[in-house]
Amino acid sequence: MERRPMEKKRFDVAVIGAGPGGYVAAIKLAQNGRSVALIEKNFLGGTCLNVGCIPTKTLLANAQIMHKVKRAGEYGIVTGPVTFDFAKMKQRKDAVVEKLRKSLGTLLQANKITIVQGEAAFTSPHELKVVGKESGWIEFEQAIVATGSQPLDIPAFACDHKKILNSTSILELTALPKKLAIIGGGYIGCEFASLYAEFGVKVTILEALPTILSLQGKSLAEALTSSFTKQGIEIQTGVLVQGIEETSSGVSIRLKDRSPVEADLALVAVGRAIASKGLGLEKAGVQTSDKGAVIVNDKMRTTVPHIYAIGDVTGQFLLAHVASHQGIVAASAILGLRAQMHYNAVPAVIFTEPEIATVGLSTEQAVAAGYSVTVGRFPFAALGKSIATLDTDGFAEILSDQKTGQILGAQVIGHEASTLIAEMALAIQNELTLECLIETIHAHPTLSESWLEAALIANGTPIHFPPKRK
Ligand code: FAD
Ligand code: NAD
Repeated sequence: MERRPMEKKRFDVAVIGAGPGGYVAAIKLAQNGRSVALIEKNFLGGTCLNVGCIPTKTLLANAQIMHKVKRAGEYGIVTGPVTFDFAKMKQRKDAVVEKLRKSLGTLLQANKITIVQGEAAFTSPHELKVVGKESGWIEFEQAIVATGSQPLDIPAFACDHKKILNSTSILELTALPKKLAIIGGGYIGCEFASLYAEFGVKVTILEALPTILSLQGKSLAEALTSSFTKQGIEIQTGVLVQGIEETSSGVSIRLKDRSPVEADLALVAVGRAIASKGLGLEKAGVQTSDKGAVIVNDKMRTTVPHIYAIGDVTGQFLLAHVASHQGIVAASAILGLRAQMHYNAVPAVIFTEPEIATVGLSTEQAVAAGYSVTVGRFPFAALGKSIATLDTDGFAEILSDQKTGQILGAQVIGHEASTLIAEMALAIQNELTLECLIETIHAHPTLSESWLEAALIANGTPIHFPPKRK
């Protein structure tokens, strides 16, 4: 058979990976007149759209409805027995992903971006080889590595995707287990625990550290632990998982110095592996850290000046909105525009019931950074809107610099925390003080008044909260 030579194409910029980092950078570059190849080996939208943010939040939306329906009686609404169809929920999740993936394809085409379907690897500092549906070579002036991350697999309890699942394979379930053991009490472990517990699954979280969500700070970890425990979720902390054996009925999780945990299924959620292997980075001269993260500066430039890296592959924050922002910064640098990455006002949300959201420094981080901090915490139980809607669990908390009043961090646990945090991200990004917040009129009755009240408490001038005893 005659072998056709592989085609070679030339672009101003080659972007490897079409997740929220890569596709956003590609759009910005194309809108500014650059010819762009966006190379994707799997699906447009990356982890976030296909097996991350969007499918999980679609399923969690069902859990939110379930949560409200269970409490209908408290609002004076009489319901009959409530049942659900998990297979239909999975179908809806697939349809949402499909719809967004199609719209993204249309958006990229409208921006005249060339989508190349295949796996890319550097062959030199200015060339990539692509193998897949479309094979060939791509020559570029500049490149952006946006290859993301994958679920971390631990050899001692490797996923078989039948009984031992990861965050991708669990999304394929069409029926619920009776018992689910989750290894890892971070973002993914807690979100899936919340989702499954709401539908009556007996969930056990097995976390190696002394608390779940240890990175979010003590007060949030304690608040979520208490709420999860009330919901019947069992949490074992400080555990060392030694292995998982499959049994006739499910799995048996072997723990060091503790009794094994039996469940129908296990979910392994112990972090992410950075996707930098097999990319031929060494052929381009791009350096990585010990953990495989591509080393970048604040303009997202790697150790090779015409090659940039953004998103999870840089190992910083591993959040979709951070990847997209880094994409804008890298594209701006390529276009010769001023832009720089700052990480002091990164909002992060954990979509559990109740939701958790943070931005800026936690108390522990602020103290470690040498600040004398003032903390203002306002409980939703004291807010008119929360009482009206029966969403009184949780609090909003602001940390400020005692000397200047500048807002350093904010955290909120409770209803709509995901939406509430945006105001504090804007405040911290723009170096606002407690005074600025106090002078801002907040609509009544809204949950956002909790920020005003927290600022007033921090300022020592509370209105809807008892003053400190002198
Ligand atoms: P990715 O989205 O991982 O995209 C990288 C793309 O590169 C992939 O499509 C991959 O196929 C492609 N690729 C890799 N190597 C090659 C190659 N050699 N050639 C061609 N293509 C290649 N973040 C949030 O902010 N909010 C959330 O609610 C949230 N929920 C999450 C839930 C789960 C279950 C998971 C797993 C993650 C979640 N995240 C969330 C994190 C978020 O998904 C990631 O931070 C984000 O997707 C990172 O974007 P990225 O562009 O860096 O990489
Ligand atoms: P994670 O880093 O958030 O949590 C992993 C947890 O597993 C940690 O608490 C860790 O101590 C624990 N752990 C590690 N090894 C263990 C072991 N052998 N036994 C028991 N516990 C162990 O990682 P994740 O939950 O896998 O999520 C990965 C990343 O994806 C997150 O860091 C986050 O950036 C992103 N994500 C974001 C969202 C969101 O924004 N809502 C949702 C999901 C995922």
